[in-house]
Amino acid sequence: MLNRNDLCHCGSGKKYKKCCMEKDLAEHRKILDQKTLVDKKKKANETYSRAIIGLSECLEDLIENDEKFAGKEEEARNVFFDDMIVNNIASNRFFASYFSYDYMIDGENTPAMYVLGHKKFDKKDREVVVSCLNSHPSLFVIDKFDGLEVIIRDIFTGIQYYTLDAEILAGFEVGQYLLARPVKIGSVYVLTDLTIRIQEDVKDYIYKDVMSEYKGDVNNMANIDYFISINSLYFYKHMLNLLQMSDYKDSMMEESLHELEGDEEESNSLNLEGLLREKVEEEDILAKMIELWSEISSKLNLSGAENGWASGLEYYYRKSIGQTITQNSIAQKYDVSTSTLAKRNKEILAVVEGQ
Ligand SMILES: [Zn+2]
Repeated sequence: MLNRNDLCHCGSGKKYKKCCMEKDLAEHRKILDQKTLVDKKKKANETYSRAIIGLSECLEDLIENDEKFAGKEEEARNVFFDDMIVNNIASNRFFASYFSYDYMIDGENTPAMYVLGHKKFDKKDREVVVSCLNSHPSLFVIDKFDGLEVIIRDIFTGIQYYTLDAEILAGFEVGQYLLARPVKIGSVYVLTDLTIRIQEDVKDYIYKDVMSEYKGDVNNMANIDYFISINSLYFYKHMLNLLQMSDYKDSMMEESLHELEGDEEESNSLNLEGLLREKVEEEDILAKMIELWSEISSKLNLSGAENGWASGLEYYYRKSIGQTITQNSIAQKYDVSTSTLAKRNKEILAVVEGQ
């Protein structure tokens, strides 16, 4: 650590206070700010997922034990999926949100409202569920990207939402469009379920379509905000369509859910061995990889899906014995992105080298 009157570390020959000190302090403050934001984001995710896990337990219980309720769920499912043939984690997750917060089961209640009225919920969890009820999916544009902070703006209402979802939105840029459902948790918005990027022409199509419906109905509608909030099904249908057309894989959804829920308990029991036995043909290499995994896995922070770890492990191991392989080929084998593979490989490398 330099003192104010020492010569500056940059070699300018000036005193530190007259040279790089301000710049260094500013950088230091920025790092501290980022850390505060990381903590804030983690807390918001935890608050959100605890409440949602509580709510879904109640709903599952009702569906299992209450015939009338089960009938409503079936009915909602038919409305939601129509004759669409999408059936994956993401679409079911969309359905769960739609059914819980948007689908009317008796003219004035959605299932989540019903649960709040009939089950004991602590104050914090209740607030989260109310926030979910007050949220709706919509069309957004990215207004600002700064570190963890991302501000998105609702195309219809112009309302801005402050999020710390840079990780979920990795690869997005300012000015790009997305379909999402932000939910307010404390002072930030959390992007729930899956966030789908859309091209400008799709954005224009959805926008025009919604606006013409709204204009046809404007006498009955207080404002556009209300109109889109009661037409969530419309947005979900688009999301399902986009899922159907895209090369979306469930592993992407799993990653974003793990990210959101910080599934640590679950990930401690990652069963990599089974997956490796399925994917790695050569007996000797398989045995060595399993051995390596048992040596290092306890030293890793095992968040995220197991196929990500398996891809990183295989890539690392094959490289270490001098094989010529590409990240792309291994990533494809495990159905993960190359950036996930690279990330896991790096984490494995750090542990191996630290031994
Ligand atoms: Zn300097």
